[in-house]
Amino acid sequence: MRAAFMTGVDAVEVREDVAPPELDPAGAVLRVEACGICGTDARTFFNGDPKAPPPWQLGHEPVGVLESVGPDAVLPSGISVGDRVFLGSILTCGTCRWCVEGFQNLCEHHLLYGYDPYPGAYAEFAAVPPIATKNLIGLPPELPSDLATVADPFACALNGIEQLDVRLGDGVMIVGTGPIGCWQAVMARDRGAGRVYMTDVSSERLKVATDAVGHLIDDAWVAGDDNGVGELLSRTDGDGVERVSVAAPAKAGQQAALEMAAKRAKIVYFAGLPKHDPVSPLDMNELHYKELSILGAYGATHRQYRITMDYLDRRQDDLARVVTHRFPLDRIAEAFETIRSGTGLKMVILP
Ligand SMILES: [Zn+2]
Ligand SMILES: [Zn+2]
Repeated sequence: MRAAFMTGVDAVEVREDVAPPELDPAGAVLRVEACGICGTDARTFFNGDPKAPPPWQLGHEPVGVLESVGPDAVLPSGISVGDRVFLGSILTCGTCRWCVEGFQNLCEHHLLYGYDPYPGAYAEFAAVPPIATKNLIGLPPELPSDLATVADPFACALNGIEQLDVRLGDGVMIVGTGPIGCWQAVMARDRGAGRVYMTDVSSERLKVATDAVGHLIDDAWVAGDDNGVGELLSRTDGDGVERVSVAAPAKAGQQAALEMAAKRAKIVYFAGLPKHDPVSPLDMNELHYKELSILGAYGATHRQYRITMDYLDRRQDDLARVVTHRFPLDRIAEAFETIRSGTGLKMVILP
């Protein structure tokens, strides 16, 4: 079969004669129809990652047809061989306290599909290891495979919006307009937000974002020297907004969110900071005097994946615009280049 291997930092090679994955008696094999590229893949490709020892097969947002299923595999109810499915990438033990209580995103033992020891799905066929069979989700018949690959990041965006608890009439500010920020804007609107604003430090990324979801938001601007705070305050009589999502891995955005927040507002720090530099200087008097709530959001639960699949199906027209590029497997290098250039939002590989 054909598969793409990351052979080193910034180097990818598509090989034709790769042995297809063997069927684990308790696992399955997927004939891959589409596989998204997520920010984590891009970071790995540009910087390397000890959990992707070259030559390594990346790809952890796969949609495909269940080609074969091992005799001992336990599949979610309603799913069987031949079905078109999405594979959720957060692999969980299913037995720790957090899994049992429904917070699979917080599993004590969670691993990520597409990283050592589980090769990913930039390939014609991909193994579904036994630990991953419970992550298979059936696709609605009308939902295209390329759009369904976004279920992973979308479910995470949904987790952020649920933490943010957007209410009817709220003013909502989205800081960072990558795919996550765009989808959160759509969901905030659907939840009844009174005003939805977006800002980004990159005018190019903001332009791509407003091309995709601009018809659903009220206003957007480039975050300048004050990180976009002044523009927001001028639109809200100096009050700020009730809900702020920081969907950018940036300390400046985290501080700006405190200044954008109205009294009693909620703020969700959706994006993490680089692991080597996680400490952020924040004005805690904003928190104190305005009685703010600052919340985190990480990954997504099985419930959020289920809701995501239905939502993607129902809101295809607006959500599909965030998938800006599709590449065949042998042009995967171009896909990574497009991410680097910042001229697209979501990329999907079609093996
Ligand atoms: Zn990912
Ligand atoms: Zn667990």
